[in-house]
Amino acid sequence: MNDDIKTIYDFDHRLIREYFLSVERQAPGSPQVTIQALHFVNNLTHNSRIADIGCGTGGQTLVIAQNAPGKTTGIDLAPEYIEKLNENTQQFNLQNRVKGIVGSMENLPFGEEEFDLIWSEGAIYNIGFERGLNEWRKFLKKGGYLAVTENTWFTSERPAEIQKFWQKAYPEIDTISNKVAQMQKAGYMPTAIFVLPENCWTEHFYPPLIAAREILLKKYAGNQAAEDFIKFEEYVTTLYYKYKAYFGYAFYIGKRME
Ligand code: SAH
Repeated sequence: MNDDIKTIYDFDHRLIREYFLSVERQAPGSPQVTIQALHFVNNLTHNSRIADIGCGTGGQTLVIAQNAPGKTTGIDLAPEYIEKLNENTQQFNLQNRVKGIVGSMENLPFGEEEFDLIWSEGAIYNIGFERGLNEWRKFLKKGGYLAVTENTWFTSERPAEIQKFWQKAYPEIDTISNKVAQMQKAGYMPTAIFVLPENCWTEHFYPPLIAAREILLKKYAGNQAAEDFIKFEEYVTTLYYKYKAYFGYAFYIGKRME
């Protein structure tokens, strides 16, 4: 039954933030993949402005700043993530080129045509892919780039367990061809699409979270909500390993048309 399926939204956001604060990235990805995606963006200069929406603690924000010219603003709803990003920018001596601010992707505090590049890894699902594409376009200069990762079906048919899980957790999950059509409809010319390699999960995302779960379990021993959340996270992890031939992330890169 679909109603038995839990999603991340069934858990306390403070618990979720505490869990993800202890790791360097809050979504699948890797520095290599961020750099690969940046190679498809060819309009940047030292005067460029970049927005990294749903930046989390800013793992990829720092990679962008280290590999592209211009100034980057990372924005996230969680103040503790932004605090960590701003600490890290000091540590990497990037404080003049990277700034983290607290805010919502649903109500971005930016001006029209402010950015040469809008970036978002593992975060646009919070508002939904199509809505994000449509609402964020006005913040891009004409000819500016959008680069986002998004949960994607790799095949036209899927085993029932994974189909049902994502249908409940993120019904906007879709095939690459349908996502590309949505990009075009929203006024972007798709310039590059690629599937993220499995090591974005199996090396960069899941292993650090195993340690994070152990810490959380110790701290909240006997707390039902925390234990349920940890069980949920373990289940989601097993789903990935079991069904990674059927779903994962793709990077969608496009250019604002008009
Ligand atoms: N880009 C980072 C974090 C991805 S996790 C990485 O790849 O590691 C998704 C992020 O979206 C979280 O940091 C979460 O706090 C943020 N988020 C969720 N809803 C948001 C909203 N409405 N506005 C801004 N950020 C949001």
